[in-house]
Amino acid sequence: MKQTPFLEQVCEHFSAFDYRHYTQGNISKAWWEKLVTAGIYQPVIRRSDDGRENYEELSRMIAQAAYHNLGLAMSFIVSTLLFADNVMEYGTEALKKEVLADLSDHAGLGGIAIIEPEVGSGLRLMQTVAEKEGDGFRIKGKKHWQCFSTSAGWWLVTAKNKGQDETAGAFGFYVHKSAAGGFRTAQTYQPKGLHVIDFGVNELDAYVPDYRRLNLCGTGIPEIYQLIIPTWRQFASLGNGFLSRMYEESVKFASERPCPAGYLKDIAFVRYRLGNIAACRTICQALFHYVIDFFRNNEKGTREIFPAQCIKVMASDCMLSGAMHYQILCGANGYRYDASDNIAAMAVNDAQAFVMLSIPNDVLSLYLANEFLEKFGREGHTTFRDLITHSPFTQAAAAHLEPYKKELAYMPAGNLELVMSGQILTRIFAIAALDQYSSTAEADPESISAAILYCVNEIATILGNKSIAQQISNVI
Ligand SMILES: Cc1cc2nc3c(=O)[nH]c(=O)nc-3n(C[C@H](O)[C@H](O)[C@H](O)COP(=O)(O)OP(=O)(O)OC[C@H]3O[C@@H](n4cnc5c(N)ncnc54)[C@H](O)[C@@H]3O)c2cc1C
Repeated sequence: MKQTPFLEQVCEHFSAFDYRHYTQGNISKAWWEKLVTAGIYQPVIRRSDDGRENYEELSRMIAQAAYHNLGLAMSFIVSTLLFADNVMEYGTEALKKEVLADLSDHAGLGGIAIIEPEVGSGLRLMQTVAEKEGDGFRIKGKKHWQCFSTSAGWWLVTAKNKGQDETAGAFGFYVHKSAAGGFRTAQTYQPKGLHVIDFGVNELDAYVPDYRRLNLCGTGIPEIYQLIIPTWRQFASLGNGFLSRMYEESVKFASERPCPAGYLKDIAFVRYRLGNIAACRTICQALFHYVIDFFRNNEKGTREIFPAQCIKVMASDCMLSGAMHYQILCGANGYRYDASDNIAAMAVNDAQAFVMLSIPNDVLSLYLANEFLEKFGREGHTTFRDLITHSPFTQAAAAHLEPYKKELAYMPAGNLELVMSGQILTRIFAIAALDQYSSTAEADPESISAAILYCVNEIATILGNKSIAQQISNVI
């Protein structure tokens, strides 16, 4: 992966968290200080504040962390993008100064608190409420599953404005300093994976002064997405780094594990599994290339939702699928921690989190299908295929869908069909990204063709499922 002196200086620490030896335990304060001193915040700090403001470097840093440990990479996404970058983008001058000083002088750590135990990703039902009190806001409610639930020094909290409905700008975004009190961890969780990070339930009765309210207002839920879009893009970095590792590990395992045929890799079906892992990796390489290209051609401020949603769903599905193929190849030893010959159990448990967190893939597939239909208009186009052929995000892939033109001659409607159409769109988006990636010097034509076939096959499977899904649902 392309290195710069800055990346070398930061990334040399990542091997300390490698899956080979780091299987348990939250990241320590001392280690966090070491990583901050090495420069992990630099890529999101603006040049005017003596930072590097370099999102390509940030993407490469996250990819390299994900190669060693997805929890480490997630720690960087939360602290740099979800917290620090949003404060730099939407904070008042006084807030930015305060946060920047804490990040650099005290190796500060920030988290984001959106999701609640009772309402989950149904954000409209959010129960945490902010009410004006003196020169600030009183925020009361409950949040859970926050990365760094017990250890973050800062929180970006979403809350509903008391007494205001959504169309009047119902949501507010507040930055709370943990040391000020009122953000209490009522319970800690024992997560299945991502052991580098601590999780739990947080109860809020906190006071936030006016200057710590973010300058981000509008109708509500779209603003919450504005906070998250840069993170969704970084799933390409997670997938790129993680799946490069999965591929290396699985090829090594299959080449060294004896069986009656010689070694596992001499078995045709094993090679098919390895090919699937390679395809998942190549898809994420193409998505990563798309993201890097985006940063070269756009200011980081462009927060377009549809491509970011496609990247999130596609990359996390690939991460889980690639890790599961690897685990199966590792046999029973893939089903336990601390095996000397593989890292599959940790890898699968970590990868699984990403199809759920940051809005579950099922829900995001529904949203992105709706985005697509709204943005590219139903008018004038009579079928989904017609829309795919005309949208700039998908038209490059249309030729690969010729064999399915009959099956795609429908217009998505209703939850079931919309979710499945969203899944199809993410695969089509990936084909378009692969097509774009194929013209680069680093791309291997054979790997690209196999990855495109993988996506087409997934589309065919979803279309097949679509035709029977209603019948299966009728059992309930
Ligand atoms: C490891 C980890 C880290 C996290 N970090 C943070 C964090 O830092 N900050 C934070 O605020 N939150 C965080 N979360 C919370 C996370 O974002 C939520 O768990 C996630 O958005 C899903 O919400 P939920 O669990 O309530 O699921 P729900 O919203 O209840 O959804 C559950 C399932 O129901 C189905 N479903 C629901 N609605 C629909 C629909 N309309 N159409 C089709 N299917 C549907 C889907 O299968 C979905 O997976 C984290 C979670 C995890 C696991």
